[in-house]
Amino acid sequence: MDVWALPKMPDASAMFGEKTTCVHRAWVVTDGAALERNLGKIKAALPPHVRYMAVVKADAYGHGALHTVTRLLQSGVDCFCVANGREGAEVRELGPGSEILVLGPLLPEEMPTLAAYDLTASISTREEMLALSVLAGQYGRRIPVHVKVDTGMGRMGTWYEDAPDFIGAVLGQPSLELRGIYTHFSSAGMDAPFTSLQRQRFVGALSALPGSLRKSSHFLIHADNSAGLETFASEGPFNAVRVGLLQYGLPPHRGSLLKRLKPEAVLSFHSRVGLVKNLPRGTSVSYDRTHTLARDTRVAIVTAGYGDGIPVSASNKAQVLIHGQRCPVLGRVTMDQTVVDASDLAHVAVGDTVTLIGKQGCDEISVSEFCAWAGMIPWDVFCSITKRVERVPTGLRG
Ligand SMILES: *Cc1c(COP(=O)(O)O)cnc(C)c1O
Repeated sequence: MDVWALPKMPDASAMFGEKTTCVHRAWVVTDGAALERNLGKIKAALPPHVRYMAVVKADAYGHGALHTVTRLLQSGVDCFCVANGREGAEVRELGPGSEILVLGPLLPEEMPTLAAYDLTASISTREEMLALSVLAGQYGRRIPVHVKVDTGMGRMGTWYEDAPDFIGAVLGQPSLELRGIYTHFSSAGMDAPFTSLQRQRFVGALSALPGSLRKSSHFLIHADNSAGLETFASEGPFNAVRVGLLQYGLPPHRGSLLKRLKPEAVLSFHSRVGLVKNLPRGTSVSYDRTHTLARDTRVAIVTAGYGDGIPVSASNKAQVLIHGQRCPVLGRVTMDQTVVDASDLAHVAVGDTVTLIGKQGCDEISVSEFCAWAGMIPWDVFCSITKRVERVPTGLRG
C-alpha cells in the first residue's frame, strides 16, 4: 500500500475536546537547556585544567544521541565516550574534530570503523595492540589509543602490575598514537577505601610514562566517572573526567565534595490515558491477579507498559502523575498497558497526560523514586526506555 494514501491522523484535541500538546502514546522529553546548565555547573566545580569527557553511550543514556551530542558540541566538551564502533561513527558524523573514545573492547570486524571514522580505541592486551598496528598499516595512518588499566574492576584493562610493560610495548609501536591512559572504579560512591586503593594502583602504573607525555596537556589521564568525581582531588595526575549520570541530572551522593552541585533532570517520561472505567470492589486486576480492588475503583489504562520502559518489577509499586496527582499502579505492568487507580482524581479523561518520570503540576517523580519502586539503578531505568518511545527535544538553542 502506498503510504501517501494513508488517511491523515485525526487531531487528538478535536477527538477528545482537550488541549493536548502531543499525539504520542508514550514519549520522553529531553531538556537541552537543562543539560547545558548541568554541564556548566559541573565544569565550574572542576579545576580549570580538567577536560570534560561526555559519556554518550547507549543513545546518550536513552536521552537520544543526536540531540544530546549536538547540544554538548554547542556547549563545548573536550571528548565523547561511546561504547562501540557504531556509536562512535554516529557521533563522528555529528561532530568532526572532537576526540571520540570507544570505551568497550573492539571486535575485529569493528576495527575498520575505528580508522574510517577517526575514533580512539581503548586497549588492554597485546593482541589488540598488534591488531591495531596492522590496521594502521592498512590505512596508512596512526591509530589513536588510550591504554586501559585494570586496578580492581576486573573487567577491561591490563592488570595494573603489568601496566608499565604494556605501556612500554604500546610506545614501541610507531603506528599507534598513545593519547591517554585510564582506569575505571568498581565502587565509586559506595566504597571510598577501595576507590582510593584503585587510585593508588593507577598512579603507581603511571610511573612508566615518559615525563613528556605526563606533562603534555594533550595526553589525557582519567579515572573518574560521575560518582568518582565526588572524591576528585585537584592535586594528583588526573586531567580529565568521564561524566555520564551527573550531566543527565542525577544528584551526587550525600556527603560528596560535589554535594552543593544541583544538577537538573534532563529527561521526563510521559504517556496518556487510553481508557477510563469503573470496576467493582473485589475485582482482580491484570495478569496473574496480583492485585484485588479493595473498593469500587475508577481505573485509568495508561498507554505504555514494559514494551516502553515501565518495568514489570514496578508492578503494584510505582505511581504516576495525572493532573498533578499521584495514582498508584494496580497489578502487573503489561507489555503495552498499565492500569492505575484514578479514583481520587476530580476528573480524568481519555487523552490526559500521564507522567511516569518528571514534573507534573506541583509534584515530581524523580528518577531515584522510580528506581526505588522498580528495584533498578538509574542507568538501567534510562536504558530500559525503548525505541517505541518518541524522543522529543526541548530547550533548543535559538
Ligand atoms: C559508562 C561509563 C562511565 C560513565 O559513568 P557514570 O557513572 O554514568 O558517570 C565512565 N567510564 C566508563 C568506563 C564507563 O563505561
